[in-house]
Amino acid sequence: MSGNPRGAARALATVRRWFDTAAPAARDGEADVGSRIDWLRAAPFIAMHLACLGVLAVGVSATALWIAAALYAVRMFALTAFYHRYFAHRTFRTSRAVQFVFAVIGSACVQRGPMWWAAHHRNHHRHADTALDPHSPGVHGFLWSHAGWFLTRDGFRTDWERVPDLARYPELRWLDRYDTVVPVALAAGLYALGAVLERSAPQLATNGPQLLVWGFFVSTVVLFHATVTINSLAHRFGSRRFETRDDSRNNAWLALLTFGEGWHNNHHFFPGSARQGFRWWEVDLSWYLLRAMAAVGLVRDLKPVPAWVLARAGKR
Ligand SMILES: [Zn+2]
Ligand SMILES: [Zn+2]
Repeated sequence: MSGNPRGAARALATVRRWFDTAAPAARDGEADVGSRIDWLRAAPFIAMHLACLGVLAVGVSATALWIAAALYAVRMFALTAFYHRYFAHRTFRTSRAVQFVFAVIGSACVQRGPMWWAAHHRNHHRHADTALDPHSPGVHGFLWSHAGWFLTRDGFRTDWERVPDLARYPELRWLDRYDTVVPVALAAGLYALGAVLERSAPQLATNGPQLLVWGFFVSTVVLFHATVTINSLAHRFGSRRFETRDDSRNNAWLALLTFGEGWHNNHHFFPGSARQGFRWWEVDLSWYLLRAMAAVGLVRDLKPVPAWVLARAGKR
């Protein structure tokens, strides 16, 4: 490294950005752009996958599987109902406290902060399946749309101009800047819970390392791949009810996996609704849960599917 101080400074700046996404570049005025994978910046993402191999060392228990499944469900709901339908599309209203709570749960998904997520997603709708779409399987290939595009310098950047409505909230800006804080807290909390259970409830046959591997690494990696099927598979496989300008599809399997996001052709045709399954048989778990939250006053003004859209959906 000493023979290449500029390279070392650049690597150090990149590592700082693992923890502080607003950390300055290695040199003043260095452009923070690039469309190739930044492998050092992407190292934690790759390490999360390798950490799943820890299952071979820590074994398994019913407790670990239940916790992994529960964390998948809670975080999938936060992603689809809040990161997607609330932050990216503003399809309902809520209090600042509930907004923050679900921004925190969303941050625990390790899919970065709510503003980063919403900004890229708004760009996706604006340019869906064109060269300017960040993740189009038709334009960029399947693998890139699934798990390549966000590992570049361009992909890591939050496009602030796309999210002025969210940037008003300092607590959201903080979550976006320090987007590893919540995931690290979750991982540490799971380890501590496992250690406590090992002592206080030995019949559960779990421990700290086991809950860390299953509850954090395995659950998060499965959650991640389920989420990004909507970027990759849901623009390739399924039916097209509406002739949208993009290549979005409706796919019942993906809708079950992602709590309703698989009705992606519906969603591209009319993104302004909190509901994505347009017919009664189009299972949309996040919509049902949002209705339940509205019934107890936690959210309000859920935007429905307009009658003219339902009428067109009913014909196909
Ligand atoms: Zn899409
Ligand atoms: Zn969307």
